Amino acid sequence: MEWEIKRSSNGCILCNKEFSEEEEYYSALFDENNTFIRKDFCIPCWDNGKKEGLFSFWKTKTPRKDKPAQMQINTEILLDMFVKLEGNNKIHQKNLRYVLALYLIRKKVFKLKSLKRQDNEESITLYYPREDREFSVLNTNLKEDEINALTSELNQLLNYPYQEQEVFSTAD
Ligand SMILES: [Zn+2]
Repeated sequence: MEWEIKRSSNGCILCNKEFSEEEEYYSALFDENNTFIRKDFCIPCWDNGKKEGLFSFWKTKTPRKDKPAQMQINTEILLDMFVKLEGNNKIHQKNLRYVLALYLIRKKVFKLKSLKRQDNEESITLYYPREDREFSVLNTNLKEDEINALTSELNQLLNYPYQEQEVFSTAD
């Protein structure tokens, strides 16, 4: 099945309040029937809301209006997703984990330790110095365009609507 990313609107998913400038709020990824759904919550709604299917979350803040729009992906969030995808046997999730591994190697979070071939499958052993532990990742043999497609899905999932809006806004 196709893996799909849905994203919420520009305010709190529960009370529909629009976030104000520099307001702190929570962004969360939910795994609903193998579809990652990003939802944003104001702090009171987050504290009171049900979090069924919660996969990963982080606290964030809307940018100041006079600041230039900036695409920021937090390495910690990606690392958290990577760790939580361990042991997931769905092909799309395995692919995603592989792409996250590539990114985290490039960001020097992980060191490439070794490659192992077994039963026509190649797995990569990564070393994570900060916690002195290793991870094993299946090489899912993605082509470059598949890697690019997954990377852009991740960007869409993690991007902040406010910042996107700033880029495209013609108002004021
Ligand atoms: Zn709310």
